[in-house]
Amino acid sequence: MGNVLAAGVIGVGYLGRFHAQKYARMPGVRLGGVADLNPERARRVAEELGVAAVADFQALLSEVDLVSVVTPTQSHAAVVEACLLAGVHVMVEKPMTVTLEEARTLIELAERQQRVLQVGHIKRFHPTVRALQASGLLGEPRFIECHRLAPFKNRALDVDVVLDLMIHDVDLILHFVRSRVVDVEAVGAEVVTGRVDIAHARLKFANGCIAHVAASRLAHEARRQTRIFQTDAMIELDFSEQTVMVRRRGPGEMVLDGVRLPAIVESRLPVPRNDPLEEELRSFVGAVRGEHPPEVSGSDGYAALEVVTAIRREIDAFTRDIRV
Ligand code: NAD
Repeated sequence: MGNVLAAGVIGVGYLGRFHAQKYARMPGVRLGGVADLNPERARRVAEELGVAAVADFQALLSEVDLVSVVTPTQSHAAVVEACLLAGVHVMVEKPMTVTLEEARTLIELAERQQRVLQVGHIKRFHPTVRALQASGLLGEPRFIECHRLAPFKNRALDVDVVLDLMIHDVDLILHFVRSRVVDVEAVGAEVVTGRVDIAHARLKFANGCIAHVAASRLAHEARRQTRIFQTDAMIELDFSEQTVMVRRRGPGEMVLDGVRLPAIVESRLPVPRNDPLEEELRSFVGAVRGEHPPEVSGSDGYAALEVVTAIRREIDAFTRDIRV
């Protein structure tokens, strides 16, 4: 391991505090300080971890090599730009920005400054996704079905459910399918927050795969599942239960309601437990050290945002039609 790297966290609200805790305990890394516009919040987290607190994040930038930007999404573009201009490597929470233009500017700036820009699509590090990748079972999905339904929480209400929740599945789908999206259909509804709270989208890919994604922040019970249908297997990831079920055509036949069908063999993948945030930040630090490219690059963040922008445009057109 090289020199000890100094890390900072900008925005230590709900999620940023966890980022700060992870850096504080990470080998080869020293938490150099935290920044939050809310001085009381910054002070509380700084005291908990025994580091300096500042209100203006600019004061932190000369003290650190890398930062996590965990401020509300609307502010990501301006904060990340300032960090990159100061020569600091950045891990920005998802969604990387609100607009595609902002995202493009950040990617170009990171390239010019030769700094790592990683985007916080944390589900890539989820134990179920890690287990699926390690199994070698992921082939060429023909159909993907995602549900990300969450009970209401007073968080992230500055953006709609597509930018807040659906983007997790969009990033995973793009990662799994590795083909170009050729068509997007979507519908959604504003129910209680003045922004879209429930959304359904259908993505069609150049290779013929179809993905159906449902997201809600008004669910009675949480449900976070993805089903991947391939010609050789159906794979079901349950993000809440942390399980991966695999159903494959087995030898022989079975009789289902009097009908003879190919037998199905069911198995569960081993899913070693991990701490996805810790893995994500370790991976970011590894990228900063030049050990590997960022696992979720600025371009990956852009690709997810591009699809999500198309989904939001479709929903907007749909709701406008309804209002007319
Ligand atoms: P939050 O409101 O709890 O915390 C944000 C903090 O940033 C607040 O304390 C606020 O005072 C501070 N802040 C705002 N502007 C600032 C600035 N210019 N400089 C310094 N501090 C500033 O929000 P949260 O729920 O922690 O979400 C933050 C980000 O993390 C959002 O982009 C959200 O989408 C993302 N997020 C990602 C996941 C995930 O699963 N990866 C989960 C939750 C949140």
